[in-house]
Amino acid sequence: MPKLSVLGSTGSIGTQALEVSKLRGFEICALTANSSVEALERQIREYRPRLAALADEKKAAGLKIRVKDTGTRVLSGIDGVCECAGCEADTVLNSIVGMAGLRPTLAAIEAGSEIALANKETLVAAGELVTSAAKEKGVRILPVDSEHSAIFQSLQGCADHSEIKRIILTASGGPFFGMNGDELSRVTLAQALKHPNWSMGAKITVDSATMMNKGLELIEAVWLFGVSPSQVDIVIHRQSVVHSLVEYSDNSVIAQLGVPDMRIPIQYALTYPHRYPSPVRQLNLEEWGKLTFESPDYDLFPCINICRGAIEKGGLYPAAANSANEAANELFRQGKIGFLDIAGLVEAETEQAPAVSGYTIDDVLLLDECIRRRIFNKVVR
Ligand code: NDP
Ligand code: MG
Repeated sequence: MPKLSVLGSTGSIGTQALEVSKLRGFEICALTANSSVEALERQIREYRPRLAALADEKKAAGLKIRVKDTGTRVLSGIDGVCECAGCEADTVLNSIVGMAGLRPTLAAIEAGSEIALANKETLVAAGELVTSAAKEKGVRILPVDSEHSAIFQSLQGCADHSEIKRIILTASGGPFFGMNGDELSRVTLAQALKHPNWSMGAKITVDSATMMNKGLELIEAVWLFGVSPSQVDIVIHRQSVVHSLVEYSDNSVIAQLGVPDMRIPIQYALTYPHRYPSPVRQLNLEEWGKLTFESPDYDLFPCINICRGAIEKGGLYPAAANSANEAANELFRQGKIGFLDIAGLVEAETEQAPAVSGYTIDDVLLLDECIRRRIFNKVVR
């Protein structure tokens, strides 16, 4: 049986990945989380991994005592998470949220494991480093993100990537699609957390509301598929049934469709190139009746173009946009800033990013720390 490790196993993607892996009979090598002691304990008892880790060191000490009777070795801190990532599973599914996923992704690549990647922030902040490390090691990065899985599926049979004319990412538009600026200035966290089509973790749900998520996905597509930013277009598709499309040089367009359920892209990343039955219900087109497609409002949702500008400039600009968004998204969830402040902070920090061509992981992590501190000091006084 294939061996799988799941990083961020207690989250929205992590729990669905474990559900899929159980149906497919994978052996679980390692599980990690941040601080969810009880959830991780339940998973350890169910999946019996060799290793487990909590990034929170105090919580890890508590977990160690609670699972003493199992054969699982409990590690702690970011180093513990990295050790789990590097435990030589066939595939490491990284569903950690945010920049905390960066070092574990690199540790898994270093160990030669195939990467099933949900943690898009990793590719946005350090796309060049992550993709070149994977290339060097001969390790594949398989997308879990539904749009990128759709593109990947639509590219099967593509003989040469130079035949790709355009990638069209679909976006649901989030809960605030169609609102005007005045209405947007008054939206609440509770409203932002009500995504129309997907049930996801809080951070990505807020990213969908600001449409920063689509900006991050544009950058993710550039790194995953080797296209230029100008080849990536975005279209609003409220129903989330067409998960994304590829337009080829002959103007033929291939898309992947399905009901909005992450277990399809998760399973495809874990079983590629094979397909198996899944618990996801069938797509009945008559049930949907009408599928709609519209242009995004780039003025009201400026994060998309901030990300486009950042990847066009390259270097540390995408990392700055991502870190600023992580900090601003968190402050919004804490009720410390308004919804429109998020894009304002992302724009200000992206403009100020240091213009360098080559960068290291330490540069990315240091920049992240500086931006978080600066935004926090600006807002929380
Ligand atoms: P969740 O918030 O539901 O889960 C995040 C997971 O990461 C949890 O297991 C959490 O542990 C762990 N974690 C959080 N912070 C740290 C840290 N500092 N160190 C180590 N582990 C940490 O997020 P989602 O599952 O929604 O999203 C995960 C990733 O997948 C994100 O990058 C997101 O953009 C991407 N994604 C998600 C989709 C979805 O449908 N949810 C769709 C497409 C992409 P704990 O439980 O202890 O906090
Ligand atoms: Mg997505």
